[in-house]
Amino acid sequence: MHHHSANLPLILRPKWVFVEGELREGLEVVVDGGQIAAIRPATGPLTHPDRALLPGLVNAHSHAFQRGLRGHVQWASGQDDFWSWRDRMYALADGLSPDGVEAVSALAFLEMALSGFTTVGEFHYVHHQPGGAPYDDPEELAHRVIRAARRVGLRIVLLRVAYARAGAGRPAEPRQRRFIDTGPDKVLRAVERLRAAHREDPWVSVGLAPHSVRAVPKDWLSAFVGFDGPLHMHVAEQPGELAQCRAEHGLEPLALLDSLGLVAPNFTAVHLTHPGEEDGARLVRGGGRVCVCPTTELDLGDGFFPVERLPGVPLCVGTDSHARIDPFAELRALENHSRARLGRRNVLSPPDAPDGLAARLWSIGAGEGSRALGLPGGELAPGAPADLVLIDLRGVSYAGARPLPAIVFAGQPRDVEALWVGGVPVIEGGDHPERARIVEDARRALSTIG
Ligand SMILES: [Zn+2]
Repeated sequence: MHHHSANLPLILRPKWVFVEGELREGLEVVVDGGQIAAIRPATGPLTHPDRALLPGLVNAHSHAFQRGLRGHVQWASGQDDFWSWRDRMYALADGLSPDGVEAVSALAFLEMALSGFTTVGEFHYVHHQPGGAPYDDPEELAHRVIRAARRVGLRIVLLRVAYARAGAGRPAEPRQRRFIDTGPDKVLRAVERLRAAHREDPWVSVGLAPHSVRAVPKDWLSAFVGFDGPLHMHVAEQPGELAQCRAEHGLEPLALLDSLGLVAPNFTAVHLTHPGEEDGARLVRGGGRVCVCPTTELDLGDGFFPVERLPGVPLCVGTDSHARIDPFAELRALENHSRARLGRRNVLSPPDAPDGLAARLWSIGAGEGSRALGLPGGELAPGAPADLVLIDLRGVSYAGARPLPAIVFAGQPRDVEALWVGGVPVIEGGDHPERARIVEDARRALSTIG
């Protein structure tokens, strides 16, 4: 954590400022007290020539420790595509100490900050000691993940996972012992304790995440209706989940959740790769949204979110398993894979605005991600939190290009020159002051995993 937050207002005069869906010139952004105090005509020369200032991106779905899977799961084992991935994931989840969880989480969060994310929604499901016994502080690992985010400087919404069983009528497997709670009241009490412990930290908030209809029974889900705060859930990621849910409940996953009253403005369905016929209408009516995790869904062979079947449903993105951490790749994959599937261009584009598609994709990454996590902001506007990313457009890849679409469709993490969270500088000159130490700590923790 660094605290070189200036008391004086910070005035940024980049060449371009992203406001109202376009990059505008001739503006300055005044940051004071962690917020955007004003956006007004520039009162001096450019402070950042050939750079663009945009609202920071929100990673609405992360399992930070899964960063330790990278490069270890890209091989086949017999006929089961999922096997090597899940085996390594359980070995990792089973093998990490609290220090290890913190170190690997910090590595994931560091890479997020370096690539333009200012906020993470951490879907946190490793709660207990390897045998399943609680730690002396039952929220030990959640605190470690939060500490990792704050060490890097990210804003974090800890989505405390509820996990009851391996599947319908199947108790938890031995390697799921670290995830399991014994009742929904226990989960809600854990949320309350976490909220109390971090009440004073404006960078930290806490939500709830029933893992999936596979892992959470109906009576638990009923106990979570009306939860005050963001509520996220994996929904319809694999076709097998739909059949199991129909067999147990006579309904597909989102229909079940809707019948219980969970589909509401605080609700985010993660994945929904295989939506039911009425799921779009359910989300529009209830006020929920979908978090798509394109690069992970491709990595796991889940399929791809059929955007054209859910018109009007708000979308956000997440990097989920961290096969890669690159918000530019997530945002453009939403559009590019829709093109590949549908055989046409500009699928998500509003009509007749040269920056309209790129602006929409950036707003998916920033604004809707913020709403998914119950946070204000996600746009550059007076009163919004000063969660900002500065993109360097001096590189060859931007020469002669229209800036905003080029950022979204050809940008990459290394174009992120600076990043502020709540007005505090986190990335400067494309680097983080703790980079070397965070990388070394994580490397050491991961070297112990078989
Ligand atoms: Zn996930």
